[in-house]
Amino acid sequence: MSGCEGGSCSTCSGDPDRLPPGMLRKYDLNGSTADGILVWAETEGEKLAKVSAELISAASGLSDGRVYVALFGGPDMKTLYPEIFGYGTDTIYHIRGKGVETYAPETYSEALAQVAERINPAAILIGATPRGRETAPRLAAMLETGLTADCTGLRAEGRKIVMTRPAFGGNLYADIECTAFPQMATVRRGTFPAPEPREGKGTAIYWQYQGAQTKEIISEDPSEKDAEDICEARVLIALGAGIRDKTIVELAEKAAGSVDGAMVCCSRALVERGWMPPSRQVGMSGRTVRPDLYIAFGISGSVQHRAGISGAKRIIAVNTDQNAPIHAFADLSIISDAEPVLRSIAELL
Ligand SMILES: Cc1cc2nc3c(=O)[nH]c(=O)nc-3n(C[C@H](O)[C@H](O)[C@H](O)COP(=O)(O)OP(=O)(O)OC[C@H]3O[C@@H](n4cnc5c(N)ncnc54)[C@H](O)[C@@H]3O)c2cc1C
Repeated sequence: MSGCEGGSCSTCSGDPDRLPPGMLRKYDLNGSTADGILVWAETEGEKLAKVSAELISAASGLSDGRVYVALFGGPDMKTLYPEIFGYGTDTIYHIRGKGVETYAPETYSEALAQVAERINPAAILIGATPRGRETAPRLAAMLETGLTADCTGLRAEGRKIVMTRPAFGGNLYADIECTAFPQMATVRRGTFPAPEPREGKGTAIYWQYQGAQTKEIISEDPSEKDAEDICEARVLIALGAGIRDKTIVELAEKAAGSVDGAMVCCSRALVERGWMPPSRQVGMSGRTVRPDLYIAFGISGSVQHRAGISGAKRIIAVNTDQNAPIHAFADLSIISDAEPVLRSIAELL
């Protein structure tokens, strides 16, 4: 080692490990000792985001090491500690400071990098939410590691995390390994089951972030949200391109209205027709759902649609074509026109 930090001197040039002139290797994590999993606990108002609860609970099953959680916010966020510990967290790093009073991807990623540098985790998991998708790549760049975005599955092989995500337009699922530590993934909501709320205890550490905000948000205009979320539904009545009459959508809504916890969702075909909003689309570019019962009317079962329903406990397919791919993974197949079946269900209910 020459002791210099740049890559332009004659001693260092040509060394592939050298960084460009002026760049310091700031977060040099040690892959041989990296252990445990760090999860960013995102919050929605004063509540823990559902995807974060799923990830924290999954992390304790994936890792033999410790589970760390990074939580941003003021002292009022302490009310979330019992829930976060209850999902299997050993240590909460509660990050505070002027620079992180409001969300900004630059400061949040820097603060997370500082925590990661301190604990040296083997993996970092972040929800594939709008904020997670914005923050995770910045954090990965700071830590000089790889990031697998929008995962629909994770499994552990010792310290290694094998990350699964749809690839090539959803025509296949790729298992991806990160060759550097910490291994990073953003993970979709619904990839893991929602944990039962429970309370626990552990260690909480205040982490003072020293940086400064680089931006100020002067106004926020949230896009309109569907009042109900199909990810919460216990029973889903799913409609696909085989539905030819738009009044069937109303019929399905009526049937769903008669069952507690039931909602109507759809394949991309009906969103493209403008019959249902994108928030109701299930699949690779829609939502991942885990209902107790999924009844698919006129849905063929493309790989892209299937990507969103692999967590469904029971699938019933109603389809006129007995060779439709959906029958291969449905628990019960009804080879029939969708409309009379749906009408009978609505009348019975
Ligand atoms: C990058 C990418 C991302 C995608 N993301 C998604 C996604 O998130 N979600 C999604 O759903 N798709 C997605 N798609 C589209 C996907 O490839 C399929 O085109 C779509 O899922 C097909 O929807 P469907 O099953 O409703 O229609 P079709 O495949 O057209 O199937 C219609 C089915 O209805 C049956 N049928 C016809 N008439 C009747 C009747 N009277 N009664 C009963 N059954 C009947 C037919 O036999 C057929 O099986 C994506 C595609 C790409 C390339």
